[in-house]
Amino acid sequence: MSSMDIFGYRCKKCGHIHYPNRTLCHKCRHDQFEPTALPKTGRLLTFTHLSALPGDFEVPELALGIVELSGGVRITGQLDIPKPKLGMAVVGEVQVVRRDEYNQYHGMVFKAK
Ligand SMILES: [Zn+2]
Repeated sequence: MSSMDIFGYRCKKCGHIHYPNRTLCHKCRHDQFEPTALPKTGRLLTFTHLSALPGDFEVPELALGIVELSGGVRITGQLDIPKPKLGMAVVGEVQVVRRDEYNQYHGMVFKAK
């Protein structure tokens, strides 16, 4: 299976992790960051089901959730969970979620932990 990571940006001063990138730290206004692999476990904050997706998605319909990862970073990802519940523990895996002529796009796909 895949061992890819999605990278966040850790403030070199206070350690707060930002995703996506920012120019100034949200907490301390420092401007130096280092890339850090985002944690893969977290808890489901909210979710929604989508259908009638554009043709470049890998699947015909999907559930999208917002997950708060360990450490507090929030990320949107696909859910591979038949009956998602708010607050449930989830674990993510980085996969290709969309592709077009030129690029493929990676994202996290979450399963129940
Ligand atoms: Zn900071």
